[in-house]
Formats: sequence, structure tokens, C-alpha cells
Amino acid sequence: MKVLVVGGGIGGLTAAIALGRAGHEVTLLEREASFDPVGAGIVMASNASRALSTLGVELRGHGEELAQMDVVRSDGTLLQRLDVGRLAARFGPVYALSRPALHEALEAALPSSVELVLSTRDVTLGEDARGVTARFALDGASREARVDLVVGADGLRSRVRSHVHGEVSLRYSGVTCWRGILEDHGLDRAIEAWGGRARVGAVPIGGRRVYYFLVLSAAKRAPAPGLAEMRAIFGGFEAEAGRVVARALEAMPPLHHDLEELEAPMWGRGRIALLGDAAHGMTPNQGQGAAMAIEDALALTQACASGAEGALERYVTMRGARVRRVQLDSRRFGEVAHWQSPLARRVRDGLLRLVPARVGDAHFARLVGPGLALAAGA
Ligand SMILES: Cc1cc2nc3c(=O)[nH]c(=O)nc-3n(C[C@H](O)[C@H](O)[C@H](O)COP(=O)(O)OP(=O)(O)OC[C@H]3O[C@@H](n4cnc5c(N)ncnc54)[C@H](O)[C@@H]3O)c2cc1C
Repeated sequence: MKVLVVGGGIGGLTAAIALGRAGHEVTLLEREASFDPVGAGIVMASNASRALSTLGVELRGHGEELAQMDVVRSDGTLLQRLDVGRLAARFGPVYALSRPALHEALEAALPSSVELVLSTRDVTLGEDARGVTARFALDGASREARVDLVVGADGLRSRVRSHVHGEVSLRYSGVTCWRGILEDHGLDRAIEAWGGRARVGAVPIGGRRVYYFLVLSAAKRAPAPGLAEMRAIFGGFEAEAGRVVARALEAMPPLHHDLEELEAPMWGRGRIALLGDAAHGMTPNQGQGAAMAIEDALALTQACASGAEGALERYVTMRGARVRRVQLDSRRFGEVAHWQSPLARRVRDGLLRLVPARVGDAHFARLVGPGLALAAGA
């Protein structure tokens, strides 16, 4: 098949790798002049790392293999520990790395047969029963490509999705988020500290570097607090989270976004398939948005094995329920993490401390299991 992938983020690159390795003729369009991934660090859970490994993308050596992921109270008291180092034997490793490191690993794995076209503009699509004609601008000239399948991997504000499903409003998650990377900061596990309105995350990504995120319940598009106000808002965190906040707020963090998502997944139509955030942008509370994009790429490639006819239906059958469950779980998890009533938080924290490790292990197994099955079939 001839396939046009629109968007060279994590989802589009993985799709190009998977489809290219399967023998399809792939063109990958990216609107930027070079890969400059937005974001600081990222966690690749076992489903993502296993799926990438089947595509020849090895993350070992590109970041940190995580041993533990802890949820703690703002004073540092442990609420729940996920022993991902122990679970790795069953499910595969969980890696944390910088976004550029992940992009580098993906780019290095692109098969030479994939045609990569950067700096593209104004993609428009015209469909008929046998294929899709894509037009786009490059260096001021208009180009045309006739393909069997278009993969819309152009992110949360996807133009390909708008072409198929019309304009949709994004759902604001109720929180705004600052991110960055600390150099030379020791941390031997990932932590997420819950403080009601505010939440702090810190993840080692190798080489004594720590990826952090500061999350705050806020009205949509509320004016961003200044540095002094940020220090007051996040000043209640103690122990490791407190040390991360102190370092992070030596200046304003480099990245700030209101967190938005799609209300529900949308998968495309006919010969146009959506993938990753374009299909199901979700909150990052379970660290699974990119993992779902990577799983999508494997599933779509498997769905294309018998040709473009019916591929979208096969793909949606494989992905629909799985992705919706992860999207809703992630939304709920974020809401619970930001409960503000002191009583509700005391009850929540007390219960979390009582939950045996095997319950957390079972949740992790449910979260990553379907992705491992998909990877096993690749
Ligand atoms: C705070 C935060 C933390 C997160 N943490 C994690 C985590 O730990 N683990 C995890 O798995 N996920 C995480 N995610 C989610 C993850 O970042 C996204 O799900 C993932 O990056 C989506 O990848 P994508 O390729 O679908 O879209 P994008 O990354 O948005 O890539 C889209 C690409 O398409 C290009 N593009 C857009 N329009 C066009 C066009 N018209 N023509 C050509 N190119 C175009 C863009 O330039 C971009 O390169 C997090 C998200 C956030 C916000």
C-alpha cells in the first residue's frame, strides 16, 4: 500500500516505522523544519517500551529504567508504591527519558524506505472509493500524492480530524501544568506528590537529570501566576517534592500549558485513519497518551495486513474499547488526585495507604496488558 502519514510526533514516527517495516510505501509529512518535540520528559510504560522494542526501537541507554513509582502526600508520606522494577520481569521495563532522546531513538529506527518531508504546509485531502488524493505546500510549491491510506497523526488540534469529523471543542481538564528538566539533581525513583489544588511530579531521566511537572487546579485560561505566587502555591510541599519545587522555581519553568483532551475518541473515515492525540488526546494522569499512540501504530499496521479495504474498521475494533477505558481512567485519576476537601483527602489518603501492593500490581497489569498482547502479535 501507499500510505501518507501526516505528523511526525511520537505517533506518526512510530506509525511510519511500523508500516515501513511491514513493506508499505510510506511518506511522512511534518510541518516543522526539524524535529523539535514539545515537552520535557516522558515515561514509557511497559506496554510502550515492549511495543517499541518489537519495532527495533530500544530505549535502554536513552534514559533511566525506573525502579519505583510512588504517590506521596505533600509532606512526603508514602501513600502508594508501584514497584515497577520488580514488575519489569513480567511486563517489561518502564523507562523515563527526555523527549528529544525519545525522538532521536524513533528517528534512528525509521526504515530508509520511508520518505520524510519536512516543512510541509496546508495539507488538504480529497477522497474517493479507491483512495485519497493529498495536496500540500512545500517550499511555496503545491505537491500532490495519491495514496491508499492517510494516517492523521497530527496531534490534539488535528487538521486531518477536522477534515473528517469537523471542528470539535477540546475538553479542559481543570488543571494547568508547568514542565521542565532539572540538571544535576539526584532522585532514585519517580514521585508524584498530591497536595490538593497543587500536584508535583518528579522523574529521573538519567545522568542526574530530573523531569518535573507542577500541576494546578485552575479556571480555563486563568492568567498564569507569577514566580512569587507560584512559590506560595507550591511552597507547601516537603521532602523530595519540596526540593524539586525549590529548584524548579528558581525561575519560571520553561513550558506551561492548560491540559486539554478530546471528549471521546474519533477514529476517521474510509481511507483516513486517525492515530495518537489526533484520535484520542487524553489527560496525562496515567502517563499513557504516547503509549496509546504507539499501540495504535502497531494495531493499524496489523489491520492493514490484508489491505486498505476494511482496515479502518479492523483498527477501530482493536482500539476502540481499550483506548476509551484508558482515557476515562486517566480523567478520573486526575480528578481524585486534585480533590480539595480536607476530609475527602484524609479518607482518600488513609485508604490508599491500606491498599495492598497486589492491588496496584493488578491495576498496572490491566493498564499495560493489552499493549503487551498487541506487541506479541507484531
Ligand atoms: C504534561 C504531559 C505529560 C505527558 N506525559 C506522558 C507520559 O509520561 N507518557 C505518555 O505515554 N504520554 C504522555 N503524555 C502524552 C503524550 O505527550 C502525547 O500523547 C503524545 O505526544 C502524542 O503524540 P502524537 O504523535 O499523537 O501527537 P503530537 O506529539 O502532538 O505530534 C503531532 C505532530 O504533527 C505535526 N503536525 C501538526 N499538524 C500538522 C500538519 N498539518 N501537517 C504536518 N504535520 C503536522 C506536529 O508538528 C507534531 O510534530 C503527556 C502529555 C502531557 C501534556
